[in-house]
Amino acid sequence: MSKTIAIIGGGVSGALVVLNILKQSHQAIHILWFDAKNSFCKGLAYSTDEDVHLLNVRASKMSVFVDEPNHFMDWLTQQQLPFSSNDFVPRTIYGQYVLSTFNELKESSSTVKITCIAEEVTAITKSGDEYVVSATKENQVQQVVLAFGNFLPAHPRSIHTDFQQSGRYFQNAFSSFIIKQVINQESVLIVGSGLTMIDVVLSLKKHNYAGKITAISPHGYLPQSHIENPLPVVAAYINEQSPYTLLQLFSLVNQQLKYAKSNQLSAHSVIDALRPHLQRLWLGFSLEDKQQFLRHLRHKWGVARHRAASQSIQVVNELLNTKQLELIRGRVYDIKTNITGFEVQYSDRRQNNSLNTSVLINCTGPESNFEKVEFPLIKQLLQANSIRVDALKYGIEASVNGKIATNFYTIGPPLKGILWESTAVPEIRVQAQQLALLLIL
Ligand SMILES: Cc1cc2nc3c(=O)[nH]c(=O)nc-3n(C[C@H](O)[C@H](O)[C@H](O)COP(=O)(O)OP(=O)(O)OC[C@H]3O[C@@H](n4cnc5c(N)ncnc54)[C@H](O)[C@@H]3O)c2cc1C
Repeated sequence: MSKTIAIIGGGVSGALVVLNILKQSHQAIHILWFDAKNSFCKGLAYSTDEDVHLLNVRASKMSVFVDEPNHFMDWLTQQQLPFSSNDFVPRTIYGQYVLSTFNELKESSSTVKITCIAEEVTAITKSGDEYVVSATKENQVQQVVLAFGNFLPAHPRSIHTDFQQSGRYFQNAFSSFIIKQVINQESVLIVGSGLTMIDVVLSLKKHNYAGKITAISPHGYLPQSHIENPLPVVAAYINEQSPYTLLQLFSLVNQQLKYAKSNQLSAHSVIDALRPHLQRLWLGFSLEDKQQFLRHLRHKWGVARHRAASQSIQVVNELLNTKQLELIRGRVYDIKTNITGFEVQYSDRRQNNSLNTSVLINCTGPESNFEKVEFPLIKQLLQANSIRVDALKYGIEASVNGKIATNFYTIGPPLKGILWESTAVPEIRVQAQQLALLLIL
């Protein structure tokens, strides 16, 4: 008898589960695949149609399948797209790749049937051994995968809150309306200075925005650039079996950074060498170590780990040099709305300051605390105790393999608190392969 699996979320996490089921299953399965934004195979990251929005991972590492590492490169070659394995491909092309792989596998599968439903799921309830997934109608399924990805960022802290309703404030930096509404405005303030800020700046530049752009963040860090001709890398320095405390790891990494510096080796490689071990290292930390890391090292780690393509950083540096873009270190504490936009108060370590801006774009990163997320499904699942936030309030409580309860799973960003490194394709594809195997058992 055929079983029905509901996958909630059409982004890359949901897509990679679907692709792996298509590839691995020889039994009759019906997948009900829901996406509120009709963004199947693309989701938030790969729906952009701006060719200046590049992947921040080299093409060689972006295959959708763990066991076919050249799959993306082969697809690029088939499409006669002139990218090499070291290139940072536009994200819009990556979205086409996932979609085309899905279409191809779907057509060739005689056992797996997929129904894409462009609707928001508002509730999931248990019914005996099964689940009822509610969108515009109720659907009885045997298994559920929550692949709902990232949520909108929290609003910047402010004594006044009326800015949240202003048409000049954008909580969603990926909104397709931003450029049209911003292009003739005198000035833009971007709250946050990470990779999302870079995306916004690249779009503004591409559309010949002539006004002033300011980016503000508490530490004033900018993402680093991937290096085009990398220096020699450090030798592997993590013992694959040992657990480490945060302090042990911190001093080991610092030693390696010093060693790399004095021997003309790549400092980036010191960080990259940790990547394959990150989930294991994170799982080995005590709760206190994890909390210490989040409190004191998260921002530094973010800058070291999340790098951008050098051509993107080059554009940012040009704009900084011409002073069209300014980066300020400061913490926003109040936003007053006025006729021309906003008066923003912020403090740096020494004093309070203010600036005026016509437009405010929130690039502070997704809200990870599910207790603060306003979506009906999340509220319903929390209220019904079907999901619980993890101890760090960084995602959902689940096993390492994404299991929340019997036949009830999650994948990708909701596992950040459990696995830490759980948002990029190199990690999600491993989870997707393992989860697909569990689902088709
Ligand atoms: C701008 C950006 C650039 C990135 N670049 C890279 C990169 O270069 N390389 C890399 O490896 N990783 C990159 N990442 C990280 C990673 O690929 C993404 O985080 C990944 O897209 C996560 O996919 P997801 O499917 O979990 O979430 P999302 O892409 O957020 O998709 C979730 C989907 O679920 C839907 N949804 C949510 N709730 C419901 C509901 N109740 N009912 C129905 N549908 C619902 C949403 O509409 C959405 O389409 C990037 C991320 C971002 C944001």
